[in-house]
Amino acid sequence: MGQTYAIRTFGCQMNEHDSERIAGLLEGDGYERASVLEEADVMVLNTCCIRENADNKLYGALGRLKAVKAKRPGALIAVAGCLAQKDRDLVRERAGHVDVVFGTHNVHRAAELIDHARRHGPVVEILTETVRDDVEAFPSALPVRREAAHSAWVTIQIGCDNSCTFCIVPAVRGPEISRPFGELVDEVRDLAASGVSEITLLGQNVNSYGRDLALSRRGSANGNGQAASTGDDAWWCGETWTADRRARPLFADLLRAAGQMDGIRRVRFTSPHPKDLRPETIAAMAEVPAVCEHLHLPLQSGSDAVLRAMQRGYTAERYLRRLRAAREAVDDLAVSTDIIVGFPGETEHDFEQTLEVAAEARYDSAFTFIFSPRPGTAAAEMGDRFVPHEVSVARYERLRRVIERSSRLANEARIGRIEEVVLEGPSKKDPSVATGRTRRNTLVHFSSPAGLAPQPGTYAQVEVTAAAANFLQGELASIEDPPSPTATQSSLQARRLIPVAAV
Ligand code: SF4
Repeated sequence: MGQTYAIRTFGCQMNEHDSERIAGLLEGDGYERASVLEEADVMVLNTCCIRENADNKLYGALGRLKAVKAKRPGALIAVAGCLAQKDRDLVRERAGHVDVVFGTHNVHRAAELIDHARRHGPVVEILTETVRDDVEAFPSALPVRREAAHSAWVTIQIGCDNSCTFCIVPAVRGPEISRPFGELVDEVRDLAASGVSEITLLGQNVNSYGRDLALSRRGSANGNGQAASTGDDAWWCGETWTADRRARPLFADLLRAAGQMDGIRRVRFTSPHPKDLRPETIAAMAEVPAVCEHLHLPLQSGSDAVLRAMQRGYTAERYLRRLRAAREAVDDLAVSTDIIVGFPGETEHDFEQTLEVAAEARYDSAFTFIFSPRPGTAAAEMGDRFVPHEVSVARYERLRRVIERSSRLANEARIGRIEEVVLEGPSKKDPSVATGRTRRNTLVHFSSPAGLAPQPGTYAQVEVTAAAANFLQGELASIEDPPSPTATQSSLQARRLIPVAAV
């Protein structure tokens, strides 16, 4: 058909993964990928309303694409994602040159809707909720065009049942729906067979994975109230949760199943909610070698008063207790977090408590944000308690310094160590330098001898020689043979290291 597409993604990892799915669907329909958005026959903007200024970014981009559309009226513009879900008809009211608007519950219809618009004109399709039948067909059945051959996201649940007052996700993504356990295991197995060695399990609150499955299984429970075994998880019977007569699989079961899969060497996940971080998850992290030593545990605030106003469901002390338990159980654990500064009503005392918790937590890294109201959230209605912007900026800077201090110390402690690094590609700043990530999710820039150009996804041993707050630097010590798609755990354990000097 000779048509091309390009996607610009504005949001989080969920959005990135949805973009991979949209790309997979379009390529399945015969489209080829264009490298420049403005030159594509189908231009998709996949939006997010969690990030700041999402509206401005979307409508600014649409303003620029108006001229493209005027020059090439046959080109199609599609707007997808959270902001499309929230704004619905408003997208076309503000930008009449948009051809397709679809939301978070019907990503799987992307190609059909684009085709419909090509034949019949503009279409807006926003569903108010995910139809469970669609979900069952949706994530694993959809083709995906992954950005990296060796690394893949696996969505384990969509939506969120919490009600954090700053967050728009429950409104735009709907209630939590977990994917069936067996389907996820099959997907991880297929990914491993295709050469993926690193997976990231994605969900808004991964630790509550399976809660809704328990509810739906109750209908099929036997007279004793025990979970009935169904077809797709039958292979897992006798191993863990059905044998334990639990009504639901836990996230920990998923970690263990994914981590034991032949060919999978790194399992990551994001994000557990601190209130739901269960001992079983920590135990799986400690006991399954493939689960990486990295925990992203969003704090949001160190003040109990602010945490209450955010409706986060934990206190600072409870958060720290769980963090201590994770650190005690998981050797060499790296911890990252999210913190919001200047939430409505945050006093200087509240903020100092955040500084204290951040210092005690000794974060390896943190995403810190100045509060900005998201229309449609409870916090956006707290205008009488908004913190003056200049106060928030000053607090943000103080917090940044605390985080930077602990990040730098954590990274400096790695100097002299040999780290396992998965190569991601050349550095953006200097193509002669390679970049990769450690198991603890730290970025490493390392030099390798001239003529040696290891492929992305190659596992290497790198000696750390220097550290900054946000990255490490090192020298390549050895690289491994690229893993074969059919590698087994035992063959990987006996993997061949190629000393760099001999290459
Ligand atoms: S847990 Fe809170 S912050 Fe996270 S997606 Fe749900 S409502 Fe939003």
